Amino acid sequence: MLFRNIETLCEGKFLQYGKEDIVLSQLLLDSRKVVAPEGTVFFAIAGTNHDGHQYLSQAYQKGVRCFVVEKEINTSNYPNAFFFHTASSVKALQKLVQAHREKYTLPVIGITGSNAKTIVKEWLYQTLQSDYTILRNPKSYNSQIGVPLSVWPLNDLHTLGIFEAGISQPGEMARLEKIIQPSIGIFTNIGSAHDEGFSSIEEKIQEKALLFTKAKVVILCADHLSIIQHAAVKSLPLFTWSLENQSANVQGEVVEQKGLQTTVNIKTQHWSGVLHIPFIDKASVENSMHVVTVMTYLGYPLQDIQKRIHQLHPLHMRMEVKEAKGESYVIDDTYNNDVAGLQMALDFMQHVRQRAKRTIILSDVLESGASQDDLYARIATMLKAAGVTKVITVGKDSQRLASYTFEKTQHFNSVDELMADTTAMTFHKEIILIKGARKFSFEKIVHALEYKQHETRLEVNLNSLLHNLNVYRSRLQPGVKVMAMVKALAYGSGSYEVAQLLQHHGVHYLAVAYADEGVRLREQGVTIPIMVMNAKVEAIDRMITHHLEPEIYRLDVLEKWAEIAGWSTQPMSIHLKWDTGMRRLGLAPSDVPAVLKVLAEHPQLKVASCFTHLAGSDEALHDTFTRDQLKSFQEITDTIAKQLNYTFLRHAANSAAILRLPEAHLDMVRLGIGLYGVESSGLFQNELRAVSTLKTHISQIREVESGTSVGYSRKWTAQRTTKVATIEVGYADGYDRRLSNGVGEVLIHGKRCKIIGNVCMDMSMVDVTDITCEVGDEVILFGENPPIQELADKIGTIGYEVLTGIGDRVKRVYYSEED
Ligand SMILES: *Cc1c(COP(=O)(O)O)cnc(C)c1O
Repeated sequence: MLFRNIETLCEGKFLQYGKEDIVLSQLLLDSRKVVAPEGTVFFAIAGTNHDGHQYLSQAYQKGVRCFVVEKEINTSNYPNAFFFHTASSVKALQKLVQAHREKYTLPVIGITGSNAKTIVKEWLYQTLQSDYTILRNPKSYNSQIGVPLSVWPLNDLHTLGIFEAGISQPGEMARLEKIIQPSIGIFTNIGSAHDEGFSSIEEKIQEKALLFTKAKVVILCADHLSIIQHAAVKSLPLFTWSLENQSANVQGEVVEQKGLQTTVNIKTQHWSGVLHIPFIDKASVENSMHVVTVMTYLGYPLQDIQKRIHQLHPLHMRMEVKEAKGESYVIDDTYNNDVAGLQMALDFMQHVRQRAKRTIILSDVLESGASQDDLYARIATMLKAAGVTKVITVGKDSQRLASYTFEKTQHFNSVDELMADTTAMTFHKEIILIKGARKFSFEKIVHALEYKQHETRLEVNLNSLLHNLNVYRSRLQPGVKVMAMVKALAYGSGSYEVAQLLQHHGVHYLAVAYADEGVRLREQGVTIPIMVMNAKVEAIDRMITHHLEPEIYRLDVLEKWAEIAGWSTQPMSIHLKWDTGMRRLGLAPSDVPAVLKVLAEHPQLKVASCFTHLAGSDEALHDTFTRDQLKSFQEITDTIAKQLNYTFLRHAANSAAILRLPEAHLDMVRLGIGLYGVESSGLFQNELRAVSTLKTHISQIREVESGTSVGYSRKWTAQRTTKVATIEVGYADGYDRRLSNGVGEVLIHGKRCKIIGNVCMDMSMVDVTDITCEVGDEVILFGENPPIQELADKIGTIGYEVLTGIGDRVKRVYYSEED
């Protein structure tokens, strides 16, 4: 397709034509990911937090010559480039891909529903890949942008498409339908999923069913009555399954659930028999039944279905960053290895740590279609674009990468060969992406490198953190900036990873407690402004070199900074903290004249902001007091603004005030605890997602007779024969001792179990009489359930203390998850 033709596909006009016509090959939204600039079109999207138009020149410099923009652009800076101007770059992207899709007539399976879209898609891929050349969405790329990007690679070699579509608002599905054009539909289920902008279940069903407008068949579960009885669904050509005696095309009855297997008697029009599904949980059985029904519809006999269902394996939906030996980190992505998955892992790597050396351990890449030489040429380019300098390959075909110039390449025929080479297995300050297809068992490498001194870990869900950021951002008027508080190790979550993520997602400022924390963030590649709350004058050199900005809360401290800053040639940004009622730190209103005098005499000191801290923003009870604080802050800053001939930011709101007191937002807000999933006013907790999950495992299980005491000081005595599990967490990890003796509850296999006896320094005991569990099983101390707030309430403190009390020795593991 020629880029020029975009004019006939969507509304808009060319601001400038390039010199030569360009055949499109790549669609790009992120200027950092230019791989093959010649055929790339860059879609600039003006989002609320990112504006793609800022990256036009970066993309142009990398050789991109086709641009779709939604703002007026001065094209004279971009000779020989095409610029197409349209009202919405996303819609242009969709129209372009729709036109591409229309060139092909292959069968396409389209999947929607409230959840399980990705797993059903991946399982269909697992079961059908031996018979078809399949194109599917990478991971959960199912959005208004994800779908077109997923469909674009479609070519003559593909014999089947499997695409999932996710929507969050009315109107979106009709557009995705045109891009996917499914001939076979799957409606997985409908839930009350929180993230959807629909007024009712009915509206949601009706909107989702639009994906099937032209489908020849729609597969769904007849037991989902709300879906199947809906008018918009009834009229579709249905092919159904049931496990509950509803009349259906594939009628099943669960006869047994044993071990890890569910046995189902199945009857269809053409065959009947017994099927063993290798799962017992309800969701996995349901997902398997969708796959069974698609295979039945496609005409597979029972033996084939059985064989393939048997090979289904759960998805590893997330990429994890783990601390590894040699001051390194590993990204564990050992589930599959195709080009799309590799690209995603490389993208993820970009966000982890920008300064560390990047290494990849890569297995053969399983990709149908291209020739092996072309495939590895493309992979070499991708690795280089991602800044990878050291490449270790395992297998056969991946050896081809050795002929490309990286700082270091090494090849091994097998994982065992690699692991036997102690030099190759030694890493130093590297970030190591471990990416291998399942059959290569790369989890062995992860296991060997992982740093495991103490098994208790705090898992930090970066997607949830981002969700919470956006909950707060959605309350702000446009233009109000966000300062994210990453003091106290980002409230216990680990500051570097969190800071990197926040920077990437457009937070304007960070605040740390001490200069050293700021220096470390700079060394890790954080470039956005950082305010240091307890800035010691002794640290001034480091502060200046690393562009750290002090908070100033005392007049004599201001004078000292002024004196030292006088020797410096550069201006020094400072933040003035005013005490309007907190009575902790801060300049007093009566200090205003003296402050103004210092500022007038020392023009190198530049006031970046003035702020105050609210003492009672979490409770309505204090609202009058809070308004007085804001009023006095307003007066102070008005006086200062009158004297300074430049503007500065004013800020007052912490997390609770962002939600409760819009009048406190001013120019910037200071977001702390809410980011980490704890809503301190208690009014909006439902909108936030849990970010941190503290986990450990069972180290021993024993049975004690009634009357036996357990633990130190014999504080607890069994009232019945009791099964006692010892878990590997204690107060030294931050699991509070006040949770002893039935106060605390932990979650094992989804069930609550009580702490018995006293919490010890490194261990605790739990009553597991009523559940099935074994040594090694996972134990959740807090997270989504039980929530942090519950622990805090039980021991008479606040979520802040529970979060920041997690011990240093507890390993932090970061992950982002999809679906
Ligand atoms: C910690 C802190 C915040 C953030 O408060 P949260 O209640 O966690 O949102 C804001 N401002 C200052 C000065 C702080 O020290």
